[in-house]
Amino acid sequence: MSFDATAKMQFLFALRSKGVTDKSVLNAMEKIDRGAFIQGLFADRAYEDMPLPIACGQTISQPSVVALMTQALRISPRDKVLEVGTGSGYQAAILSQLARRVYTVDRHARLVREAKAVFEALGLVNITAFTADGSHGWTEQAPFDRIIVTAAAEDPPGPLLAQLKIGGIMVVPVGQSDTVQSLIRVTRHETGFEYDELRPVRFVPLLEGLGRD
Ligand code: SAH
Repeated sequence: MSFDATAKMQFLFALRSKGVTDKSVLNAMEKIDRGAFIQGLFADRAYEDMPLPIACGQTISQPSVVALMTQALRISPRDKVLEVGTGSGYQAAILSQLARRVYTVDRHARLVREAKAVFEALGLVNITAFTADGSHGWTEQAPFDRIIVTAAAEDPPGPLLAQLKIGGIMVVPVGQSDTVQSLIRVTRHETGFEYDELRPVRFVPLLEGLGRD
């Protein structure tokens, strides 16, 4: 299957029906071909609104969840964004269309290597991907205007809160793994953090340390 006019129309229709209204987010979702991030058995299902398996036992998120999380971040073109949980690289590619610079980190070196190859093939030059335990954030580039975590934590990780700029926004799924989690938006004000609960979601867990491959 290819991301032709018909596939795009259906893909965008599904996003709109799930509440994705932001024009710039819809444009990014139209521009980036999700098929480029899915290899093998499931490649022909790339344009369905479903999470799908990728390497290292991980998943590429459902497109409507990618779009709604991106929308919740309220990115502006000057923003420096940190993503924790590169996975396939699809979410980072969407962010790259809206932000000045995207840093994305995964604990699996293999996923980072494969995502980098796709970024290069698509000419997405404003993404830096690296292997690390992202729950510590990335002090070299902190603070960030926006932070997105695409794995579920029991609480928003303290180091990530600390690396958020004043006025910055973080979106993070919170809750026990394997149950329904809540997507939380954290806004950092001068006086402290404001928490909004956005919607139920289901993500793989945020794990400590590096993966074996
Ligand atoms: N955003 C991805 C989907 C992420 S799946 C996409 O668009 O395809 C969640 C990812 O989080 C997995 O790849 C997993 O390896 C990663 N992960 C889990 N715990 C992590 C941690 N502590 N640091 C960095 N990455 C982590």
